Amino acid sequence: MQKRCCNISPQADKKEYCGLFGIYGHKDAAQLAYLGLYSLQHRGQESAGIVVSDEKEMRQFKGMGLVSDVFNDENLKSLKGHLAIGHVRYSTTGSTLLKNTQPFMVEYANDFLAVGHNGTLVNALPLRQELEKEGAIFQTTMDSEIIVHLVARSKKKKLQDRLIDALSRIKGAFSLVLITKDQVIGVRDPNGFRPLCLGQVDGSWVLSSETCALDLIQARYIREIEPGEVVFINKRGIHSVSPFPPARHAFCIFEYIYFARPDSNIFGHSVYLARKRLGERLFKEHPAAVDMIVPVPDSGTCAALGYAQSSGIPFEMGIIRNHYIGRTFILPSQHIRDFGVKVKLNPVKELLKGKRVAIIEDSIVRGTTSRARVKAIRDAGAKEVHMRISCPPLRHPCYYGIDFPTKEELIASQRTVDEIRDYIGLDSLGYLSLEGMLASMPLPKEEFCTCCFDGNYPVAVKHKPSRHSLEKG
Ligand code: SF4
Repeated sequence: MQKRCCNISPQADKKEYCGLFGIYGHKDAAQLAYLGLYSLQHRGQESAGIVVSDEKEMRQFKGMGLVSDVFNDENLKSLKGHLAIGHVRYSTTGSTLLKNTQPFMVEYANDFLAVGHNGTLVNALPLRQELEKEGAIFQTTMDSEIIVHLVARSKKKKLQDRLIDALSRIKGAFSLVLITKDQVIGVRDPNGFRPLCLGQVDGSWVLSSETCALDLIQARYIREIEPGEVVFINKRGIHSVSPFPPARHAFCIFEYIYFARPDSNIFGHSVYLARKRLGERLFKEHPAAVDMIVPVPDSGTCAALGYAQSSGIPFEMGIIRNHYIGRTFILPSQHIRDFGVKVKLNPVKELLKGKRVAIIEDSIVRGTTSRARVKAIRDAGAKEVHMRISCPPLRHPCYYGIDFPTKEELIASQRTVDEIRDYIGLDSLGYLSLEGMLASMPLPKEEFCTCCFDGNYPVAVKHKPSRHSLEKG
């Protein structure tokens, strides 16, 4: 089955990569995985998949498109079993292929193994070349498949040892959910780039990228999977090991700024409250003499609330988002991208006419989307348009699971703040400082990866993946 949605996204510059869900020991495992993936849809809109097991057989169903496009009553009913993992994925345009959907399942040594991956392996290319030299035949272009080959080729006997053997060879960002015939496994890389948490519902264990999926299925949040932790969930209960040498934590700060849902807790803390604090700090650093504060919905809304409440300036929904346009596929042409901005976000003319407006946005990537948006606000009659950004300028690409453009395409790596202001067509532009962003976080600054802002890559990247060389999970 292959369905292909073709929608236009104003968020074309920031592509999220993947949401994970897992459940052990529930009679409705596939249905709960479906609901979990539904909550995690914002983390990947291009494909979705569920693998289940009843301890005898494993079954899978995957497809292109939104969770609601891929699954229906019939195929969910066919996914019989009390163990399940699920995955939603976003990929670059070069990999919109059914074969690259996850979870990725293989049969080996009289067992089955399926994996769902969120992140990017920075040593994927040399590992893949090495495995190919040894005769491995790859079915996909995903770096996640390397993990499965490494497990299958490990000389160790027990699955637990084989998996740890395989994981000790990979580097970079990897939160994983895995399933075998009789167990569900959760993994977080030693730096902890991507989130993964543990919950419980009806006595069953649940793994999820974000707590919003736990909320939907009425699961209780138990705790984060710790960086470097591997949890095995089976009929004997839950068993945790931390087999890797400790590494500096590098939680992706962009999860708090943009990626995660504001109703989620990430890395143990509220996304909504962190975003509001970013807005409060933004006001302190860059006040604006304006008549109203207008968020770019939805990702700028919480920061705009913080900014408005700190400043005492009225908060207005001066731009309305059309929620019925999906984010499944990005058309690459510039013309279409600008058109997409107008389709998705429409300024409220009666509100903006003759007014001085401060737009609160979570970030600027290429600048083209913001430029088109500002033009639309001016066309709607705004007298002055100011913009405040709830993070510092993005100057460096991410190699840990987010497909920011190349350095050359990032406007802040090429232009000064004043030049960006002029390019976008603003009366003023203010970015939150790195110190201000870190001070707004619920965890100490040493816990975070900030390398897309400051270029300090916490895990060395020797082989920079090209856009379409190896795909990310
Ligand atoms: S480079 Fe930026 S987007 Fe990537 S993991 Fe680090 S903070 Fe997150």
